[in-house]
Parts: sequence; structure tokens; C-alpha cells
Amino acid sequence: MDYDVLIVGAGPGGIFTAYELCQADCSLKIGVFESGNPLDKRKCPIDGKKVKSCIGCKTCAIMNGFGGAGAFSDGKYNITNQFGGTLYAYIGRDEALSLMRYVDQINLDHGGEGTKLYSTANTAIKKKCFENDLHLLDAQVRHLGTDINYIVLQRLYDELKDKVDFHFRTEITGVSKTDDGYVLTAGDRSFSGRRCVISVGRSGSKWMETVCSALQIPTRSNRVDIGVRVELPAAVFSHLTDELYESKIVYRTKQFEDLVRTFCMNPHGVVVNENTNGIVTVNGHSYEDPKLHTDNTNFALLVSKHFSEPFRDSNGYGESIARLSNMLGGGVMVQRFGDLIRGRRSNASRIAESTVVPTLAATPGDLSLVIPKRILDSIIEMIYALDKIAPGTANADTLLYGVEVKFYNMEVEIDNNLETCHSGLYVIGDCSGVTHSLSHASASGVYVARRILDTL
Ligand SMILES: Cc1cc2nc3c(=O)[nH]c(=O)nc-3n(C[C@H](O)[C@H](O)[C@H](O)COP(=O)(O)OP(=O)(O)OC[C@H]3O[C@@H](n4cnc5c(N)ncnc54)[C@H](O)[C@@H]3O)c2cc1C
Repeated sequence: MDYDVLIVGAGPGGIFTAYELCQADCSLKIGVFESGNPLDKRKCPIDGKKVKSCIGCKTCAIMNGFGGAGAFSDGKYNITNQFGGTLYAYIGRDEALSLMRYVDQINLDHGGEGTKLYSTANTAIKKKCFENDLHLLDAQVRHLGTDINYIVLQRLYDELKDKVDFHFRTEITGVSKTDDGYVLTAGDRSFSGRRCVISVGRSGSKWMETVCSALQIPTRSNRVDIGVRVELPAAVFSHLTDELYESKIVYRTKQFEDLVRTFCMNPHGVVVNENTNGIVTVNGHSYEDPKLHTDNTNFALLVSKHFSEPFRDSNGYGESIARLSNMLGGGVMVQRFGDLIRGRRSNASRIAESTVVPTLAATPGDLSLVIPKRILDSIIEMIYALDKIAPGTANADTLLYGVEVKFYNMEVEIDNNLETCHSGLYVIGDCSGVTHSLSHASASGVYVARRILDTL
């Protein structure tokens, strides 16, 4: 055996599996296999000048490498069972919260000390939301910020690098079962181990499907969230963001009774491109350092689409809509809310005249040509609902970037140990379909490490 434990993917799930195993038993031989680069080699070539849009690198510096998809994220660490995944359904609510707090403390010990923990409990804003048919979800939110998040990851790597074998730029192509464990293949190389943890995140979702099909692990189709990223003056939401940092607000539309929610709120942040398997969608983040703050706040408004049989390709549906926006806009499109309501496209001069200065150089266009009517109507209704608790949201100059798509992995059938039907093969983090956040993915890593330690 080359290793006691093989870990595929060095995102939060993989990192915290390795971290917890090393803490408990430093004699264990652990191999981590990551298709991307080490943290310091993760550089996206888009600089806004020479390289303006995605050039389709072999491995995407934003999504792949040590730290996973969230390495350059806003580092919003949500301690809650109300969103971010359904880990609690497998391991229990108390255990899930306790593990999220445990990881939070590790983050604090590795550079996150001094960052603020916000809470939504018992706020006056919650009452105001209720009065306007909006529902504020409960959570504690640690805002690490893109800058501190990077430092935490670097320190975790420094601590792990002498205890764990990291194989970067090593894309695992196959997983096979042997009599006493598992073998991973990467091109013409192979690595054996007694236990195997797969944590390949969203970017590894397609590969995960092939593994499940080859090893006959049952899966269920899932959902996709489609919407836009809203950018407006930070003052409009300051009464919420100053107190809560991020508010997750849910609204049920009158027209279709669809649920629309705010997602990934970035006070004084920037809007960015996100590349998932060559499809460019929109995202956002913000820095902890006030010197890097902008005058704007951005957040996503998402509508969940759940599909029933026979349709199983919910991600394919989301990808097609994102592709349409890429086809029309050459990437992400931006439109003033006022133009959308008047039924006209935004063009360069209308954007230039806007009082909200865009933080992303997106192509002015018409989102109604891209986003299905039902979804767009729900988003417009939500903007008017938000305007009641944050007047100014529905201003004509509010910018809408499209499309924002939140892809979910299919749900892999795993038991309460996060173990598949094959003994010793665990699937955790976002690729399991169970988690969708830094906190849940990290907690699933710690949990699985402890289950493995019980069995080794
Ligand atoms: C721009 C952005 C901002 C975000 N902001 C936040 C936030 O503020 N708060 C929050 O809670 N969540 C946020 N998220 C989501 C969060 O990053 C993910 O939920 C989390 O990273 C999931 O962790 P994971 O370990 O499951 O997977 P990932 O982080 O996706 O890591 C998986 C790793 O596996 C590697 N991999 C994939 N396939 C293979 C293969 N075949 N062989 C070897 N390696 C492979 C990938 O390169 C990747 O590094 C954000 C995501 C993005 C993209």
C-alpha cells in the first residue's frame, strides 16, 4: 500500500480531512491528489487589460488548486444548518454545528483571529423582513475576507506540507476497488491506499458521475439555481450589512409561488467572472481590508429549479442558459434595472451614464433574451420586495449581471458515515451533493477523518 488514506481534491473537504487525520495520528501516510496548482501558483490570467476574458486555461486558477473553489472567495464562513448544505441530515444538527465551530476555531488559529462574527439572531431587521413578507434566515457568519482567507489557507498548507504527500497537477482519472483498499489512476501512474476520500467539489462533478457509474454507486438528480447578481450603492444595504454582513433573505413570489433568495452578499465588494468548465458566469467577493473596499455592494438573487423525472440534467439546463448569455455577450452581460423594466437593452452609453459604476467590465445587453420569463419575473418581484426593506434596490441604475448559476452536484448515496456502498470509500464536500459551502464542506472533512480513524 502506498498510503493509509488517499484523498482526491484539496478543497476545504480534502484539506480538513487531511488536517484532522494528521492531528490525531501523525504516523498515518496520507496522499492528497489535486488537479490544480499549489496556492501560490494559482494566478488567473485575466487582468482586465491584456487579457480581458477567460482564455480557458488547462486548469482554472479560480476553481482548482489548494484551497479549492473558495480559495479566492469572500471567505464567508456560515455556521448554520439553515443553508449551505444538508450535512445535518446525515450526522445530526448538533454534531454539524459543533464541527463547523471546530473548523472556525482552526481558521482563527491560522490567521483568522480578529475577524468579525456576525449573527442574525433577534435583530430588528428580522422583524422588518417579516412585515414585508421576507424571511431572514438564521446564521452566524464569520467574514474572513478574500485576503485573510488566503492567509489561512497558506498557513494550513505550511502546517500540512511535511506531514502529507501533496500531488499537485495530478488529475485522477480512475478509482478502482481492490481486495484491501482502492487504487487511483492518473494517466500512467497509480496510487494505492486502504481508505479513499473523494472531495472533488463542483468542478469535479462530471468526473464524479463517471466514478459513480463505474462503481455502481446510486445517485439522485438535483437542482440548479439561476439568477442575476445585483450591484448597487453600498449605502442602500448598509443598515443590513453593517449589522449582519450577509443577510440570507427568502421571498415567495405572488405570481408563481417560487422561492427567490439573496445569496453571497458582498458589502463594498466587486463583481467577478466565474468559469465552470468553460462557461463564464458571474460571482462576487469583497476584501476585509478597508483600503480595498469599493462604493458598491453586490449580491445574487437566485431562483431554484427542481426537476422531476424523466429530466435529470439540471446542471445541463443551467449551463445552456449561461451559454446563451456567453453567446450574446461574449461572457457576462450587464443591464440597468430601469432598462430591463422598460424592455430595452442597456448599451455602453446608458451604463456610462449610470450613477452606479460597475465593478466588472461586462457586456451591456438585455437579460430578458437570456433568462426564462418565469425566473426573470420572480427576480423582478423580489427586487420590488427588497425595495421595501432597503429603499433604492429598485432604482433604475441598479445593475443586474447575468447570469449567475449555482450548480449543484447530483446527490451521491452515502450513509451516516458519509461512506458509499463500498466499504472504505467516502464521498464528501460539494461533490457529494450534500454540502454547498465552505463550512459544511470543511465540517464533512473533519467528520469523515474521525470515522476513518475509528476504523483504521
Ligand atoms: C467564487 C466563489 C466564491 C465562493 N464563496 C463562498 C463563500 O464566501 N462562502 C461559502 O461558504 N462558500 C463559498 N463558495 C463555495 C465554496 O467554495 C465551496 O462550497 C467549497 O469550496 C466546497 O469545498 P469542496 O472541498 O467540496 O470542493 P472544492 O473547493 O471545489 O475543491 C475540490 C478540489 O478538487 C479538485 N479536483 C476536481 N476534480 C479532480 C480530479 N479528478 N482529480 C484531482 N483533483 C480534482 C479541484 O481542482 C478542487 O481544487 C464559493 C465558491 C466560488 C466558486
